[in-house]
Amino acid sequence: MKAGVLESMGTVVVREIDRPACPGRGALLRVHACAICGSDLRTFRYGHRAVQLPHVLGHEIAGTVVESGGREDLEEGIQVTLCPAVSCGVCANCRAGRFNRCDRLIALGEDIPGGFAEYVSIPPRLIDAGYLVPVPSNVCPEHAALAEPLGCVLNGQELLDVTLGDTMAVIGLGAIGCMHVAVARKRGVRQIIAVDISPTRLDIARGFEADIYVNAAEEDPVGIVDRATGGRGVDVVVVACPSGEAQKQALNMAAKGGRVSFFGGLPHRDSQVSLDTNLIHYGELRVVGAFGSLPVHIVRAVDLIATGAIPVDQLATHVFPLDDIARAFEVAASEDSLRVVVSP
Ligand SMILES: [Zn+2]
Ligand SMILES: [Zn+2]
Repeated sequence: MKAGVLESMGTVVVREIDRPACPGRGALLRVHACAICGSDLRTFRYGHRAVQLPHVLGHEIAGTVVESGGREDLEEGIQVTLCPAVSCGVCANCRAGRFNRCDRLIALGEDIPGGFAEYVSIPPRLIDAGYLVPVPSNVCPEHAALAEPLGCVLNGQELLDVTLGDTMAVIGLGAIGCMHVAVARKRGVRQIIAVDISPTRLDIARGFEADIYVNAAEEDPVGIVDRATGGRGVDVVVVACPSGEAQKQALNMAAKGGRVSFFGGLPHRDSQVSLDTNLIHYGELRVVGAFGSLPVHIVRAVDLIATGAIPVDQLATHVFPLDDIARAFEVAASEDSLRVVVSP
């Protein structure tokens, strides 16, 4: 089969490799769409501790089940999407149903081959956990592939208790930041301040109905949040960009009693950030992380996409055939795109 292989940092090439076998009680998918995630870009540029090169990345996948490994609970021929978490099923976190916090988590597209290929092999454990989710056939694969990042956003906002009447700042207006804006609007957030340092990104993000857009390269976003909220700060801040500076700003934007999500990971060599922890102490801030999602979030994400509640057509800004994956990574790294989808 054809696959987009990351051969060395910064070099992805299309090659013929062996088509994977369908594991017993697992599945084999014919991949129709795989979106380029910020984490794929990070691995492409800087490498990843779990990724041995050469490797096939990609975990935001939509495809068709072509083999079902003898499972009676999985129908061949249906469209599916997935969460790439292969959890152990027996650690304390798995037993609590928090498969995304599994102590022995294996990630499809990191530890094992991912979706930038014609076929991808799905381990049985991913299906047992409920992470392989059917998608109505009227949803196009380019949109279905966005259920995974949208599921992560739903998980993140659940952990933040985003609720009716909140005010919110979102720092970083890539696809994830724009999804946060769109989801927050649906949850009844009354004022959204959207921040980025790229004028291009800010332009694209204007389609997502934040109330105030701030170019942090030109204006002080903390000052603007301050003025917009009468000096109070916002109830919720989401940092959706790989920037320690943005994490610092987030603590300064939060109202007392506010909730702050460090939603985006930082490059693993650059994740030490010096924060004014007194802002957390005196402000009684709640700082939360967010990683991956639960099956319920993927199911809900598929519903939101299928019913048009979240404008995924605005999020999937580019589609490239697998043969053009190198170009797809270039465009994904540029500021002109939100999600770039590879279509094998
Ligand atoms: Zn992702
Ligand atoms: Zn586990």
